[in-house]
Amino acid sequence: MRNPPSVPVIRAAVEALRDEAAALLCDLIRFPSLPGREAEVIDYAARRFAEVAVVERVPLSNALRDDPDYASPLPGLDYEGRCNLRIRGTGGSACPNGEPRGTGGSACPPLLLNTHLDVVPAPESAFEPRIQDGVVYGRGACDAKGQAATIWLALAALRRLGAQPAGDLIAHLVVEEEVGGNGTLAMIRRGEQAAACIVLEPTEMRILSSVRGAVWFRLTLEGRAGHSGRAGDTVSALAMARRAMEALEAYHARLLAASRGLPLFDPFSNPMPLTLGKLAAGDWPAAAPARAVLEGVLGFLPNKNRFEVMQEMRQAILDAGDDWLREHFRLEFTYRHDAHVLPVDHPLVTGLQTCCRQAGLPGEVSAMTASCDSWFYNNQLGIPTAVFGPGSLRHAHSAGEQLALDDLALAAAVLARFAVGQPFQAAAGFQPA
Ligand SMILES: [Zn+2]
Repeated sequence: MRNPPSVPVIRAAVEALRDEAAALLCDLIRFPSLPGREAEVIDYAARRFAEVAVVERVPLSNALRDDPDYASPLPGLDYEGRCNLRIRGTGGSACPNGEPRGTGGSACPPLLLNTHLDVVPAPESAFEPRIQDGVVYGRGACDAKGQAATIWLALAALRRLGAQPAGDLIAHLVVEEEVGGNGTLAMIRRGEQAAACIVLEPTEMRILSSVRGAVWFRLTLEGRAGHSGRAGDTVSALAMARRAMEALEAYHARLLAASRGLPLFDPFSNPMPLTLGKLAAGDWPAAAPARAVLEGVLGFLPNKNRFEVMQEMRQAILDAGDDWLREHFRLEFTYRHDAHVLPVDHPLVTGLQTCCRQAGLPGEVSAMTASCDSWFYNNQLGIPTAVFGPGSLRHAHSAGEQLALDDLALAAAVLARFAVGQPFQAAAGFQPA
């Protein structure tokens, strides 16, 4: 096998294509691709990725809504006529262990990449990208259209160099990550085999090998409505919501205390916050409301699974010591992601680390204190998975969302170098020749 191109060679190819990648990112940002409204950005990405790889449109169907892992914080989404993209950059060279290529693809197991093209809501002006001092601003700049542009740039650079990864380089560009990963869910239900998977999210180019889980909940509380003059005869659903919030906060404190000592998570003071995000109740100051609806998110670490956490949350409300509350609540879960852990000495982690260092990055390994689609690949398909990408979670979902083009280019070089290297094939049992 020809020696794979070095990081400086790859970086030169990336630099030559950088303006094109920046323009692509700006084009992607212009699509207001909120969950359920990604059709246009998917069409555009299909055209642009066809310049550098083979593009397959993967149709979605409403059967997805019956899947036990379907997430429904945004009810009523329709899947007919919508699709994800499966991108295949063909591997060409012989396997590291010397096996010849099979027909119709490489004999080596592929490297899988994933990112998403949906974004969270923003004012109209956020969909008009601007570039200032080498930084792209706009909704989706880092979360995650900049990640898609990074994948495009890595594929384009390898193509320019005529460098072929040992195995295929496959990318899933999906919809609906922001509402619980339904796009990725659809991809994993078709099955996919790969030696390793990298989910691209803004990690400041740290390699996140442990990722926390999360459940999104909707808690409905019933009261007994009535005029404020009827003291003792009414029960305010809002007051019940306050009791429930206290019970959930106390549960979170216990869970946090019981989740200490986990490697990579421990440096964070609270790697698994309880977020009380939304409360709706009442329409008049002098009337007890009959109903309150509280929505939020609870994070958790790999010492628990989603089923345990859901059961314990319910129990915490039952045990709050309020007879009315115990009988008058409904707790639903609209998003349920488990945590996952990849050992830090796994070749996916050490291989990425080596490529980062060759590109002048620290190659820091850490934990992700948010949840993302990575657990689908790691836990459900058994593909060793880590999260990596340019940009910062600090800017994601914010008014100042941004991505530095230097970082986009660096990340593309790291991914391209990793794809043509061999560590991930070694992880799947292929030994370098
Ligand atoms: Zn996001």
